[in-house]
Amino acid sequence: MVARAYEHLLAKLMSLEIAPGERIAIDTVARRLGISQTPVREALSQLEAEKLVSKMTNVGYRASPQMSRKEVGDLYTLRQLIEPYAAACAAEAMTDEAIAILQDIDRDMSGVEAGDAHAFSRFAEADATLHRLIATGSGNRLIAEAIERLHAHIHIFRALYSTNAPHEAAAEHRMIIDALVAHDPVAAEQAVRVHLERSQQRMDAALAESIETPVL
Ligand SMILES: [Zn+2]
Repeated sequence: MVARAYEHLLAKLMSLEIAPGERIAIDTVARRLGISQTPVREALSQLEAEKLVSKMTNVGYRASPQMSRKEVGDLYTLRQLIEPYAAACAAEAMTDEAIAILQDIDRDMSGVEAGDAHAFSRFAEADATLHRLIATGSGNRLIAEAIERLHAHIHIFRALYSTNAPHEAAAEHRMIIDALVAHDPVAAEQAVRVHLERSQQRMDAALAESIETPVL
């Protein structure tokens, strides 16, 4: 029940059906899912730990507000510290099964054309799968969990700004995938570093623009 409430709320937060700052009515969610309020509360406290919602005194929960440019910069700084290292570890430890998944991801990503909302969400999913595979492939559970939590925010930004220009990012991802498949830790580390730098630049440009023209 908790897992179901969690998945339901997470999907709505990611797709912005629940907008940043919007109040989340526990009773409404419980009624819609046909469950009691207790699992909904538990799911919300998990999402609170992931900083996707925040608890307000006497009001209940709200979706977290949009991150500022500074917070997004901090987020990328942290990713740069963790993910290139994780990729180097993963490159050394890639199993045949993981390599088969990588090849599927590559196919999904290269088939995506820019500007199509549906294709974009497929691309975002393939991107999340790739970064998760690197995270778990590192063989370090704490690193994997830290990366997983950070990505939740990135998804919201993707939904908002559609910044990760699919063609551009697909080429960057191919460099990462090639290095992982070749079991080359140095190349994998470098490819992730370059991808994160470019991704941050795309994100920052979109955020600078949104100050002029708010998306919501
Ligand atoms: Zn990526």
